Order: sequence, then structure tokens, then C-alpha cells
Amino acid sequence: MTSQNVSAQLEKQEIWHKDRDHFMHPWTDFSTFKESGSMVFRQADGVSLQDADGKRYLDGIGGLWCVNIGYGRDEIAEAVAAQIRDIPYFSTFGHHTTAPAARLAAKLADLAPGDLNHVFYGCGGSVANDTAVRMIHFYFNQLGKPSKKQIISRKDGYHGSTYMAMSITGVEVDHIGFDIERQLVHHISSPNPYRRPEGQSLEAFCDEKVQELEDKILERGPDNVAAFFAEPILGAGGVIVPPEGYHRKTLAVCRKYDVLYVSDEVVTAFGRLGHMFASEDEFGIVPDIITCAKGLTSGYLPLGATIFSDRIYEVISEPQADGAIFTHGFTYSGHPVSCAAGLKNIEIMERENLCDHVKDVGAYFEERLHELEDLQIVGDVRGRKFMMCLENVADKATRELIAPDAKVGNRIADECQKRGLIVRPLAHMNILSPTLILSREHVDFVVATLRESIEAATESLKADGYL
Ligand code: PMP
Repeated sequence: MTSQNVSAQLEKQEIWHKDRDHFMHPWTDFSTFKESGSMVFRQADGVSLQDADGKRYLDGIGGLWCVNIGYGRDEIAEAVAAQIRDIPYFSTFGHHTTAPAARLAAKLADLAPGDLNHVFYGCGGSVANDTAVRMIHFYFNQLGKPSKKQIISRKDGYHGSTYMAMSITGVEVDHIGFDIERQLVHHISSPNPYRRPEGQSLEAFCDEKVQELEDKILERGPDNVAAFFAEPILGAGGVIVPPEGYHRKTLAVCRKYDVLYVSDEVVTAFGRLGHMFASEDEFGIVPDIITCAKGLTSGYLPLGATIFSDRIYEVISEPQADGAIFTHGFTYSGHPVSCAAGLKNIEIMERENLCDHVKDVGAYFEERLHELEDLQIVGDVRGRKFMMCLENVADKATRELIAPDAKVGNRIADECQKRGLIVRPLAHMNILSPTLILSREHVDFVVATLRESIEAATESLKADGYL
């Protein structure tokens, strides 16, 4: 070993120990973490990452569905450095601003559908959703409808990890061991076509789910229901694409009862489905509020936004009879350095026609992944473009699951990792949400690696008696 290698190994060990002993990781199973600790990454460029030993991996999850323009963009580093030199921070409370915060807000208003012309900034997706709730409550209070407070969302929907956003989240396993808000938030069932009753048509399934929303509004009372929160494609709940027509029909139900529609585009915006925003361009709806984060800066710096309509702005910005103002905001709302990263990120996406690239190579990715449906345990391949999921099952005909303790998602992810590909395990599923700059050759590598890895995992499941 050269002295350089020895010092790299020592550094890796130092980081590994400090991390394991002091850094409490989010969403981590500590029963395994305490033993195995973390894999240490040291560098990333383009579509891939390098670990501390110098081994390269294609990043099949785009950081966490966020590194849309790929790694190692000098232009972002330069824009960020220039902004730090100019003015790294100043409060935006009251009547103060900076150029990047103002310019990015105008840009988002321009890109967002309909009359969604106003932007409230936070540091991520959860906060963008919490902001939406506070905004909606304030809005209905000011309209003299203070009873309109309740939120409807869906099982399998994911909206974040702050208290309110987690209450809106409907992924049932995420609530185990915690109390959630049950006065304000009510869940309806997941619009997951793969799990619809045997023999039911997609149309009938769609109508049933839409009816369930209407029934829930009527059960709670339209005077008490303020908003419906929905991701256009449910991401962390398993990349669930609702049936055709669902988005438009649920929006119509909301309009009927004056229920605001919040489209959580934390994952789906900024190119992942081939559009800057998916609500209108992919699903034909103009919601009242869009929440976004992640791809807004491609993950280079933390930033989230709640983009809302003229109608809401007019109400909440008017002088209020009770003297109230919208007392909401964060030290880092409109952080100039994050906004500078966001502006440069969007500039790169537009200059490189990344949405067109996603429409082309993303469609190829989707098509090639469907080839894996011939494998014994792959029950469903679903999603669109660069937002995909494989659902693994014990029996394709009955859609019965493999025993949870087999950890099939982890087995596949581990096999992929051995072969230089990172995919995300999610219970019995695997999520794929790569950077949006993937080439066709990269797609071929991902699909071939997945095939080998799923075959290897299937063998190990058989050897352990799970299949
Ligand atoms: N909404 C959706 C749809 C998400 O996928 C996420 C995060 N994965 C969030 C909200 C929360 O965003 P953050 O982790 O930035 O708070």
C-alpha cells in the first residue's frame, strides 16, 4: 500500500467511526446501522459517485430524487461562490430582498401553470407543505370561514417529516411508533391500480377513488374541509400512477366544494417527468398551490417553495379586519445563495433542453424497465420517465408479497451495489429516480445490472426458503 492509500484508509475509518457514533441519520434502522455503519462517499460527477475506496457507482436514485442536472456542475459552484462574495445572507422579513430571491420567484411564476404567480420560500419539501397548510388556514379565516380547516390526503401519499407534513403523509408504516394529528387530517385510500380488486376495470377503479374523495368531503362537511393534498405520482409510497382521468376528476370534486387543491410536486417538478411542472403538462390540472423542492436546486443547496394563486394572494395580502398579517416565515426564507443555485439550475435545464432529453431517454428507460416483468419476482414495473419502481412479489398471479423479513428490496439493492449501481430499497420494492442526464448506454447498464441483481436475489430467496 502506498502512503497515500494508507492515509485514505485511515481517513475513511475516522469518518466511519465519527459518523456511526455521533451522526443520527434520518430514516435509519439502527439495529443494522450500529453494526454496519455507513458507506462513505467522497466524490461525484455526472451520473455517478465514488466511494472512499475509489469504487464507482451509477447513481440510480439521483441523490434522493433530486440531483436532476447531475453532479459536478462548475457553473453552480461559481454562481454560489459569486453570491456568497456579493451577499451571503440578509433577512427577507418585511421590505428587504436580494436579486436571486426576486428573480427566482419571477421565474417560478413564469414556469408554473395558470395564475400561480406567488412564491413563499422555505428550506425543503416538508416545510413547503406546512407553509401551504398555514396559508390555507389563514386564507379561510380571512374569508370568514374559520371552520374550513381539515385536510384530506391519501394512503401511500408522502408529504414530509415535519409534524404537519407527516400527519398529511399516508404511508402507514411511517406512522408506527408516533402520534399523528387526527383532528385535521383525514386519509382516503391509495389510487394504486396494481392493487385494485381482481377484474375491476381501470375506469371503474378511478371512479371509485374519485367518489371516495367526494364522500369524505361530505362526511367531514364541506364547510370543514379546506384542502386536498396530492402528489401527481405518489413517490415514496411506491411510485403510484393514478388511473387516467383521476387528477382532473378529483380537481373537479374539490372545485365543487370550494376545497383547495395542493399538488405536491416535490419530486415530479423540474424535469423528472419531462416538464418543469407535471400538474398541468402531464396530468392536465391547474391546482391552487404547488409545493416543490429537491430538483429546484438539483439538491446542490436546500430550498423549497410554495407557489400559489393570485386568488389566494389577494385574500392573504389584503389589510385584514382583525389587523392580522401572515405571520409565517423562516430565517432562511429566500436565502440568496440557495436561490442563486436554483436560478442557475433552471438556466442549465433550459439551455440543455433537459425536459426534451427526459421525454426521449426517460421514455426509453421506462420501456426497457418493463422488460424486467419477465423475471419471476417482478410483479409490477410502474412509473413514468425517470420516476420508476419495481414491485417484487412472491406470486405474480395473486400479487402476494414475499415475507417482509426476507427484505427483498434490500437484497436487490445490495446485489446492485456490488455491481456498481445504487437503487433504493423501499420495503419489498425498489425505486429508480436517476439524474436526468442519463444516456441510452447508461439506461442499458442499469437494466442489465438490475436483471442480474434480481436473478441473484431470487436465488438467495430460494436458498433461504422464501420462495
Ligand atoms: N413531498 C414529497 C412528495 C416528497 O417526496 C418529499 C421528500 N422525499 C417531501 C415532500 C419532503 O421534502 P423534504 O424531505 O425536502 O422536507
